[in-house]
Amino acid sequence: MLARTHLAFALGIATLPLYALSLVDKATLQGVEVSLYLSGVALGSLLPDIDEPNSTLGRQLPLLSSLFHRLFGHRGATHSFLFPFGVALPGWGIASSQGIALEAVIGLWLGVWLHLIGDMLTKSGIPLWLPWSERPIALLPLSYRFKTGGIIDLALGGIFGALFAYLGLNLWGSSLSITRFL
Ligand SMILES: [Zn+2]
Repeated sequence: MLARTHLAFALGIATLPLYALSLVDKATLQGVEVSLYLSGVALGSLLPDIDEPNSTLGRQLPLLSSLFHRLFGHRGATHSFLFPFGVALPGWGIASSQGIALEAVIGLWLGVWLHLIGDMLTKSGIPLWLPWSERPIALLPLSYRFKTGGIIDLALGGIFGALFAYLGLNLWGSSLSITRFL
């Protein structure tokens, strides 16, 4: 799955609980916590591909990315079910001790999981049960899975990008509107 599809897929899905919450109580969705949550989701959705120096995040952090690539290869340890916990547990400790909103860590954890789920829809799957098994795991039979960078990958990016835009406009459109200031 391409980085932009991962981002759109994760943000589109992660905004659904916010939308559901807004139907109950819109006031809870104001403030910096929502931004931190969505920033965490965005970072988490790209983080597992730190093991690929040519990935979006890998190009930003070339030294770290090369190190991960050398240690684990692409779609290795950072695509194991242990990785979301390996990221979130230290994140939780840092956030608690530094007084950072835990919403950012929840977003990060969810974003990483949504990346793994996205990759499990592609042809090659991921070694989810590392270090116990290297067998690639996928969510669908091979014929229903798509190739990274193919037309379905691009289409999913568009669909989930549109979903995120739609939910975002419904949630925050009125508060962003210029009419609020007139
Ligand atoms: Zn990946």
